[in-house]
Amino acid sequence: MPDMTPGVASALSPLVRRIVANNPGYMTGPGTNTYLVGIDEVAVIDPGPEDVAHVEAIIGASMRERVRWVLLTHTHPDHWPAARYLADQTGAEILMFPVKGIDLEPHGWLENGQIIEGTEFGLEVIHTPGHASNHVCFFLEEERAYVTGDHIMNGSTVVIPPPDGNMTHYLESLELLKKRTRLTRIYPGHGEVIDDAKGKIQEYIEHRLMREGQIVDLLAEGPAKIPAIVARLYEGLNEAIVPRAEQTVLAHLLKLKRDGRVVGRDERSTWKTA
Ligand SMILES: [Zn+2]
Repeated sequence: MPDMTPGVASALSPLVRRIVANNPGYMTGPGTNTYLVGIDEVAVIDPGPEDVAHVEAIIGASMRERVRWVLLTHTHPDHWPAARYLADQTGAEILMFPVKGIDLEPHGWLENGQIIEGTEFGLEVIHTPGHASNHVCFFLEEERAYVTGDHIMNGSTVVIPPPDGNMTHYLESLELLKKRTRLTRIYPGHGEVIDDAKGKIQEYIEHRLMREGQIVDLLAEGPAKIPAIVARLYEGLNEAIVPRAEQTVLAHLLKLKRDGRVVGRDERSTWKTA
């Protein structure tokens, strides 16, 4: 199995290398995965938190001038803050999907359907809102593989934090990824490579619908507030993750509300069936 030691570059395929950032935790698993796509011209996907040693490892794995692009799957703080320093060190262009409220001026904006063309690869940008409104996945054409950021992870659960996170969009984005044929693998934002791409996407869809069904069943027994729903749904959940689970349950409830199935307003409401 390739190395997940922080700072060590592992070849995952002839085109893709990974360096894990040194930010392990409940939400980040072994740490944020930084991917280097291409050899002659390199696209760095998610440079990770601001950490000089990590940026040095990225530059050390390529020749400085070959790093052409710094691409961001989204702008949560475990994925992007090293972008500016890496770009300054290499002359690479920072590209991301637009969002408000981030202290970063990229060199350009990613667009849905756009293809980043390196000498050896094409990376198609797929807008996948849900975990974050500006989340994108990349489709590596040569491998028919996805780089999924936090849309799909290996080993940790994806949090959907409203209002920027949106469960309706999240499920639509999963369906969008599922449509492609002959998929191979997934390079997730956290955790090891996932070899059965289609199976994993399907598993994610089913898991969300299962949770949704549980919430509907629970509210059918009587009105409830979010902490009580979390306590019932996620038994033995680590204290540190409870607020994240509450956000995701709120995202489910807001989707169910849009679907006309439940009534409630926000994280403090008592929710009930419609
Ligand atoms: Zn992340």
